[in-house]
Amino acid sequence: MTLKFGVIGTGAIGREHIKRITDKLAGGKIVAVTDVNLDSAKQAVEQYSLDATIYEDDQALCQDENVDAVLVTSWGPAHEQNVLNAIEAGKYVFCEKPLATTAEGAMRIVQAEMKHGKKLVQVGFMRRYDPGYVQLKNAIDANEIGEPLMVRCVHRNPEVPETYGTEMAVVDTLVHEIDVLHWLINDDYKSVQVLYPKKTSRAHAGLKDPQIIILETKSGIIINAEVFVNCHYGYDIQCEVIGEDGVAYLPEPASLVTRKSAQLSQSIMTDWKVRFIDAYDVELQDFMDSIKQIGEPNGPTAWDGYIAAVTTDACVKAQNSGQKEDVALEEKPAFYDNKAAVN
Ligand code: NAP
Repeated sequence: MTLKFGVIGTGAIGREHIKRITDKLAGGKIVAVTDVNLDSAKQAVEQYSLDATIYEDDQALCQDENVDAVLVTSWGPAHEQNVLNAIEAGKYVFCEKPLATTAEGAMRIVQAEMKHGKKLVQVGFMRRYDPGYVQLKNAIDANEIGEPLMVRCVHRNPEVPETYGTEMAVVDTLVHEIDVLHWLINDDYKSVQVLYPKKTSRAHAGLKDPQIIILETKSGIIINAEVFVNCHYGYDIQCEVIGEDGVAYLPEPASLVTRKSAQLSQSIMTDWKVRFIDAYDVELQDFMDSIKQIGEPNGPTAWDGYIAAVTTDACVKAQNSGQKEDVALEEKPAFYDNKAAVN
């Protein structure tokens, strides 16, 4: 069975996903596209020689009987309505982050999906598909380091444009840690506080950089997350989980080691797109395979999208108040408890 995709949003990541579904992955095909800028949709169809219908709006695309699954890669504020339209039409949805820009919006999606009665939505939190994070997760779940007590992590970018503001450090950047960390340690967040160390001279006037975000979980694990988006030297993702019996580290990406001129060296990546490129492939392949095998997506759920939205809201509040703020999650519905296994 070929899963037929309708794509909403043919910007940068929309086109990358179109390319991987068309040229690289197995079992999917693009049959419809739309974009707020129709010329962009037409260009994407030409660029990848797609045999696809171009729609003027997302509702018409979702209603197309030929479309099995909707790929939402529009800009963030449009995601909620795109996803609701897809659920209304009974279509599977792969939605790039954020699922919605507010916790209320994410909850509307959760409720629409539960009303539909079957899981349809996967959120594009690709780090869960990165081999290093999978290794870390397996070690924690196998109790290799005992009960996790603390987590230290780092998210550094060489630089950001003038349009990148203080809130984006959590809404656009930390959001990946927010998703992957509660999955890693099997716990929910309880509170968050944000500290601002001495500001780097490389950050523009409107941006506080770096930031330290301290998350506490319901069981008492303390997570210390650094976001430093003008670190200058590279794109650097680190994660260290400290347990009762030992410490586990996220493996560094493979890189050639050289010995030359009295120096032992290894390079550090500079482009985030390259760091998780394989994870993007694996997440979309898993979306297609699990729908075929078990009739529902197997990856991060709409509930995970809701957790991310509530937590980023609390982080923004903590950025502004300087105080410890509650992460006030609703009780997880039983609908999101069970996960069927995919071969
Ligand atoms: P993009 O290149 O800007 O394209 C997104 C689409 O939104 C384009 O159709 C663009 O239209 C439209 N758009 C941009 N700004 C808009 C505005 N102010 N009003 C209305 N429409 C607007 O963005 P992208 O990099 O592909 O990102 C798309 C989504 O994927 C975002 O939610 C982003 O957070 C997410 N993303 C996730 C990852 C990840 O690591 N998982 C990586 C990258 C992006 P135009 O063609 O007219 O500009």
